Amino acid sequence: MLATRLATTDAAVVMKLGRTFAKVREAAERAGVDDRAVYVERASSERERVAQLGEVDPAEVPYMSLVLVPGDEPPPAGGAGSLDIVGLGPAGPGWLTPEAQAALARAEVLVGYGPYLARVPERRGQARRASDNRAELERAREALGFALSGSRVAVVSSGDPGIFAMAAAVYEAIEGDRERFGSVAVRVVPGVSAMQVAAARAGAPLGHDFCVISLSDQLKPWEVVERRLDAAGAADLVLALYNPASRTRREQLARAVEVLRRHRDATTPVVVARAVGAPEESVSVTTLGDVDLDAVDMRTLLIVGSSTTRTIAGPSPRVYTPRRYPA
Ligand code: SAH
Repeated sequence: MLATRLATTDAAVVMKLGRTFAKVREAAERAGVDDRAVYVERASSERERVAQLGEVDPAEVPYMSLVLVPGDEPPPAGGAGSLDIVGLGPAGPGWLTPEAQAALARAEVLVGYGPYLARVPERRGQARRASDNRAELERAREALGFALSGSRVAVVSSGDPGIFAMAAAVYEAIEGDRERFGSVAVRVVPGVSAMQVAAARAGAPLGHDFCVISLSDQLKPWEVVERRLDAAGAADLVLALYNPASRTRREQLARAVEVLRRHRDATTPVVVARAVGAPEESVSVTTLGDVDLDAVDMRTLLIVGSSTTRTIAGPSPRVYTPRRYPA
């Protein structure tokens, strides 16, 4: 009965496992979905465990567990494997979506920047390729190469993979060599972006129109950054600023503040969010006139308010941008 259901549904969840686990696993095997099924125990608690069915000891399965059978994807064209570009969220396990967890659990090869890969629990039989943070295009080509040899590959990215991250790098690599990489089935698995968590920690600064700008001038000329800051300032948009500084890039943020000051008061609220989600997280609320540039590093994100963004004072000040804009 269960095997028939599993064989004829696209995606399925079997809950309240406990003593029934062995039977559920047998049904998954008979239905031919055991390969892609994922076992999840005590999800979102500190003892959370995600495993393949074969790794589970039926005698140890608690009631708080389930088997998740993700929908099957169409088989990749041309015999090539697949490439999932997976967002891990800004830090910690709390912002890893179930879809991302399932994609990581299914992967045969994991590719990514070392510290991001380190956030993914080790899994038997899964190969890992850690690389340097800057070599994004190279990493994308490498991942596509593994997929071409028939593997299920996952490239991991911090936050959302589509925001200043690996997804665009993968598509650049595909366009650069369509003949070779065009057959790989690519899927982008979204994640929670750092600005969403930074905003949530501070209140609701992104409650009205906003824009997102990376202050890095590694892949675009600084003139372009400055022109965009000036335009966003003139348009009275709230700004989320990614990549505000690094050890060597110390001038950009000071310049950015200067440009924004042409349009905004010194009292404009600014949220400085560092390492959100990590144990060393710090989020502070300051103003455009007072922002401490030296405290900003590459793990920091800034949110600069618009003319309507307000701060509700208190022991932990709340910053928000009202939904209504004055006529
Ligand atoms: N794809 C990522 C962004 C990568 S760009 C995302 O969607 O979040 C790298 C920049 O993201 C960093 O320089 C910093 O500005 C920001 N960032 C990433 N993780 C962060 C965190 N945990 N706390 C604060 N900012 C973070």
